[in-house]
Amino acid sequence: MEEYKEEVDHESLCEHASNESDWLALLYGRNKMTLAPHPFCEICGLVRNIGPDRPRKMGFFIDVLSKIERYLEEESKKGGKPKLIEAQKRLIVKEMQSEELFQDLYGTLASAQKEKFTEIVQKYRPDVENHEIEYYLE
Ligand SMILES: [Zn+2]
Repeated sequence: MEEYKEEVDHESLCEHASNESDWLALLYGRNKMTLAPHPFCEICGLVRNIGPDRPRKMGFFIDVLSKIERYLEEESKKGGKPKLIEAQKRLIVKEMQSEELFQDLYGTLASAQKEKFTEIVQKYRPDVENHEIEYYLE
C-alpha cells in the first residue's frame, strides 16, 4: 500500500531568513544603481518591505472592523444602513485570517492590505462604501 503524505503549503510557512548584509540591486530605468538597502529572504526570495508603506498587524484591522461595527450601529439607529451582524463580522475575520497579506508581513505593503481589507468588507457588506472604510483605516 502506498503511503500518503498530506500536502503542506510550504510557501506560507516560510519563516523568512534575511541576511541583512545581502542587499538587492535596484534598477532605475536601464541603469543599475548602487545597492538599495532591501534585505530579502534567502529561502523564498521575498523582498522585505522596509519602506514607509509598512504593513499592519491583523489586530489593527480587527480594531478598524470594530469601529466600522460601531459606526453601522449608530447608522442603523438613525434608520440608515443596517448594523454589522455577528455572522458577517465572523466571516470577515475568518477571511482575513486566511489571507497571507495579514499573516505574513515581511514583504507586504500597507496599501495592499487596505485594498484587501476593503474588498473583504465589501464582499459581505457591499452597501458600505470605500470612503466609509477608508475613514477608519486612516
Ligand atoms: Zn521567506
